[in-house]
Order: sequence, then structure tokens, then C-alpha cells
Amino acid sequence: MNKIGFVGLGNMGLPMSENLLNSGYTVYGVDVQSEAEAAFEQFGGIIGISLPNLSKLCEVIITSLPSSKAVETVYLGEEGLIENSRPGLLIIDTSTVAPEVNQKVESAAKRKGIEFLAAPVSGGVVGAVNRTLTFMVGGPKKAYDRSIPLLQSLGENIFHVSEKIESGTTTKLINNLLIGFYTAGVSEALNLAEKSDLNLEKLFEMLSVSYGQSRIYERNYKSFIANEHYEPGFSLKLLRKDLGFALDLAEKQQLKLPMSKILFEMYEEAEQKGFGEKDMSVLYKKISQQQATIL
Ligand code: NAD
Repeated sequence: MNKIGFVGLGNMGLPMSENLLNSGYTVYGVDVQSEAEAAFEQFGGIIGISLPNLSKLCEVIITSLPSSKAVETVYLGEEGLIENSRPGLLIIDTSTVAPEVNQKVESAAKRKGIEFLAAPVSGGVVGAVNRTLTFMVGGPKKAYDRSIPLLQSLGENIFHVSEKIESGTTTKLINNLLIGFYTAGVSEALNLAEKSDLNLEKLFEMLSVSYGQSRIYERNYKSFIANEHYEPGFSLKLLRKDLGFALDLAEKQQLKLPMSKILFEMYEEAEQKGFGEKDMSVLYKKISQQQATIL
């Protein structure tokens, strides 16, 4: 297992592929954006290869793509990974997509006799850089066992959720539903604190040793809000995408989640107002601007 393909060299994919290179793998990278491929080449990655050739050349291919549509294009098209795969290929999708897309890809992979795992990740760009990602893997145990050395070079906590292909995705959507709540909570609470003349740094120090503490508070405040820096990270539009998948899942289970629905609408509105490409923590900024308009 030496030749690895990596498709999607974005905020997550680029540091992950760099870690594979640093672990001694030969890595071939593909992205629709030439700047992303150029950045990957600078780390020693190989570019300029088409998707069909990638599928013929590599033993394992990992993908990190921004949407269900992109995953369907990369996996299921005539020029896609599965149609052109070689026997013995293992493909691992680390993107967060609709559970139905995991199922569709698995069916196509089975027809071709190749192995597929749906393995979304948590831990953000920091986790991708520092190899501390959590993997939530759904799919056959045999393929999971085969993937372990590779996933261990990308992350710290590797979980096989179950043989059900979408089980990792379901876990991840529940994780991101919580991220959505925490991010909205931090955004509203810190706006209230600021309006009440509290020092945000001092507040962080005190709440860090109180029950108001959370990893998302630390992440959103320390890395973004305190520095007034909102380049992603995890973009607000990607979080909105995942909240939509979580709501679809609830609907399928005939479960009413009124707070989650409001949450989704909040992020949807922020995206419509032009905050979608920024880090999710920008919700804090959006709320403060909104207050200024109301006043
Ligand atoms: P991103 O938008 O930064 O990167 C996606 C990359 O895929 C881009 O470089 C884009 O050009 C490329 N791409 C799009 N369509 C393509 C195609 N058809 N062929 C080849 N390349 C294509 O997104 P990201 O933040 O890196 O997230 C990637 C995935 O990981 C998403 O599904 C996201 O939900 C998930 N995720 C992100 C984070 C995070 O903190 N950013 C954390 C956990 C999981």
C-alpha cells in the first residue's frame, strides 16, 4: 500500500495529503482548482493525473470533497473513480455527505468488486494538520482493518462505527448538529457579554473553569473571534450543509427537532447574507452587525 491518490486538496485535504507524504507514501493529488494542486505539489505531491488514471494507478484513494454533488461526480461519473477502478482498489471518502450518497457509492463499488469506506472526520483543520483527527468509519470490517495504518497516519482516534456504510456519517451528523448549537450559543452569549461591557478575554478565562466551557467556545473564540479573523477553518456553508442532512435524517425518523430547525434557518440566513465562505464562528460577527441595524 504505497501509492495513494487524494482527491480534494482543500482546507482538510491539503494537510491530510501532506501528512501522507510525510509518512513516506507516494501521493497523487487531484483538485478542480489549479491553485490547490500547486500548493500540494510544493509539499512533494504528484499532480497532473486524471481521475481515471488515478483509479488505475493507486492501491488506495482518499477523497475530501465539499458536497454530495462533488462526491457523486468524482465517484459515479463515466470518468469517475469507480468506473475506472483496478481490482483490489480501496476508496475512502472522508467528506461529510448525505447518508444516501454513501449507499449509492457502496452499491456501485460492490458492482465493480472494489472496497469502499465512508469515513467522515472531526477535529477541523487543526486536527488535519496535527494528525489528531477523529475518524468515524462505516463499512465492511475487512476494509476497515486494511485502512487502519493509513488512517493512523492522518488521525488519532479511529472508530469503526458498524458495517452499515452510512453509520459513520450518521455519527458525524449528530456531532455537527451539536457543533451548530455550540457555535450559535457562543455567538449569542459573547454578543450579550460584549454589550454588557464584559471583557471577553477575562470571560473566557472564567468560563473555561465553569460549565459554560466547550471545545467549540475555545476554538471559535481563541482562533477566530478574539483575532477578528474569519478565514476558514470550517466554513459556515459547510456547517449549514451538514445541519440540512441532520434535519433530513430526523424527518426520515419522523422526529420533530424544533430547535434544530431554527438553527438551520439561522445559518441559512447568514449564508444568504454573504457569510457562507467564512469560518462558522463568523455567526458572532453576523449577530453583532444585526444588532447594529436594529439599533
Ligand atoms: P474545501 O472546500 O476547503 O475543500 C474541498 C476541495 O475539493 C476544494 O479544493 C475543491 O476545489 C475540491 N473539489 C470540489 N469539487 C471537486 C471535484 N469534482 N474534483 C476534485 N476536487 C474537487 O472543504 P474542506 O473544508 O476541506 O472540507 C472537505 C470535506 O470535509 C467536507 O465534506 C466537509 O464537510 C468535511 N469536513 C471539514 C472540516 C473543516 O473543518 N473544514 C472538518 C471536518 C469535515
